[in-house]
This record gives sequence, C-alpha cells and structure tokens, in this order.
Amino acid sequence: MSTLKTYLTGNTEIKAVRWNTNGDHPLDNSETVTLGTETNGTPDTVLTEGKVVRRFRHLNILGRTVCVECGYIMDEHGMIGDDESALMVCPGDYIVTTVDGDTYPTRSTEFELTYRIKEDQ
Ligand SMILES: [Zn+2]
Repeated sequence: MSTLKTYLTGNTEIKAVRWNTNGDHPLDNSETVTLGTETNGTPDTVLTEGKVVRRFRHLNILGRTVCVECGYIMDEHGMIGDDESALMVCPGDYIVTTVDGDTYPTRSTEFELTYRIKEDQ
C-alpha cells in the first residue's frame, strides 16, 4: 500500500497516489483473507477488492485481453466508479483526488507533465 501525497499544478492542490495493483490505494482498505492451505502447507490467501479502485471487469472485455494503452492484460487493471460510468485504471496510473473529493485515474506520463510534488510533506 502507498501513501497519498500532495501535488500542485499552478496553485491547485490535489492528492495522488500511484496505483499498480489491487489494494494499492490507501483508502482501499483491502484485507488478506485466508481461504485454506495449499498442499505444500502455505496459506492460500486472497486480497479483498479495493474500495476506491475496484478490480476491472466488463461484460464484453475478457480479462486476458491486452490493453492498447499500457500493454498489460485487463485482469491487471482496476476501475473507479460504478459500472455505467466507471473509469479504467492501468497499472502505473496515478489516482488523483481533488479538493472536492472527485477521484479519477491519470496516465503517468500525463500526470508527471501536469503536476509537481509539494515540498515539505
Ligand atoms: Zn491499460
């Protein structure tokens, strides 16, 4: 899990965190659940779905489909919002939260061109 940091564009402050996999957003509150024990004795665990960035799922896009934007398969992706207006999150995207509480993904190249980290935090 990562921590939210403050970034600036002009005088506008936002909070952001880089997302790579389920559970990365600090407000996801994902928990490790033990399902049982593997035959070699190691615990069989699963991480619960993030509350901010959910696991990507779509009726018409298979999980093994390769994303044209980032090259990772869709099973490695996340989504923000409900099914009708959900925003796709690619591994490596920044998750931006505005002062109004809007949360959305930004591709890392665009983010790094737009925002600079606020010093002294
Ligand atoms: Zn992608």
